Amino acid sequence: MQQFAYERPTELTDAIGLLLSDGAAARPLAGGTDLIIRLRDRTIETGVVVDVKRIPELAPEIRVEGDRLVIGANTVMTDIAGHDTIRRRFAALAEAALVVGSVQIRNRATLAGNICNASPAADTAPALLVYGAEVVVAGPDGTRRIPIDDWFVRSGVTTIRPGELVTAIELPLVDGAVGGTHLRRTRRRGHDLASVTLACAVRAGAPVVLAYGSVGPRPWLVTDDSGTLADPASTVDDRGAVLDRLFAAAAPSPTSMRASPAYRLAMLRVLGLRAVETAHRRLAEAAA
Ligand SMILES: Cc1cc2nc3c(=O)[nH]c(=O)nc-3n(C[C@H](O)[C@H](O)[C@H](O)COP(=O)(O)OP(=O)(O)OC[C@H]3O[C@@H](n4cnc5c(N)ncnc54)[C@H](O)[C@@H]3O)c2cc1C
Repeated sequence: MQQFAYERPTELTDAIGLLLSDGAAARPLAGGTDLIIRLRDRTIETGVVVDVKRIPELAPEIRVEGDRLVIGANTVMTDIAGHDTIRRRFAALAEAALVVGSVQIRNRATLAGNICNASPAADTAPALLVYGAEVVVAGPDGTRRIPIDDWFVRSGVTTIRPGELVTAIELPLVDGAVGGTHLRRTRRRGHDLASVTLACAVRAGAPVVLAYGSVGPRPWLVTDDSGTLADPASTVDDRGAVLDRLFAAAAPSPTSMRASPAYRLAMLRVLGLRAVETAHRRLAEAAA
């Protein structure tokens, strides 16, 4: 393990100041389930680790504020998976949180850490994309909100700036019923990242949205403007043709040890068809 200073500020401004020290190479520490591994294998080098778990603005709480559900940056997967409003209104996010790692990992792993690590296989990313989440960040120039589709750049890289911290992730609470689901394929059950991860959301009178990950450098959001996926009576063949068009940007790594590109692309289509079917069923149940 490399040598670094460990800081545990209790004020947001102190944390921002610390993050700008060490030539802006200082790193926030939340649950540590990604960061500690990367410090150990030296894929991240830093002189300062800033533990953010005592900063009140990042507190692990889930609350409704007006027409938004606010999830504090330090909220862990266990609490997201078990939260009543998330299970009812944002089922894909609850399902995604529930498959991250193991019980022990989910008790430490935060939602903010998952999107800041920015793995293309991050399980919560597709769900946040289909629900139109925004990332709230605080930094030296104040607070800004970043639509989640503008957040991911490529593996390990986001649009966060030096000195900035994620304080919360917000989800719009839209009127009307919504059917959603998250699906994934892994090489083996349990402690493994996804070979394909996918979420889908269906609302009455709105285009169907899907997002998929682990098949390219970042997770992607796609919208079906043809109306085919929104039609509960559309055929599997018609849906498959639409999904083929929507997934055209998928470009799995040819060197990954997890799965071949051909397998990932085939599974992406299978999961897409299943997700649309499940989301329609859930929409019908929610509207009944
Ligand atoms: C055994 C194992 C299994 C796993 N399985 C899965 C899985 O199935 N699916 C999956 O998606 N992931 C999985 N992971 C990865 C990991 O658990 C998640 O990405 C987790 O959500 C990271 O959260 P954390 O709080 O531990 O982040 P940390 O490790 O503390 O931080 C991760 C990154 O985010 C930065 N960061 C953290 N908080 C903030 C903040 N508030 N503002 C700005 N930057 C911040 C850190 O500096 C670091 O770069 C697994 C990890 C392990 C070790």
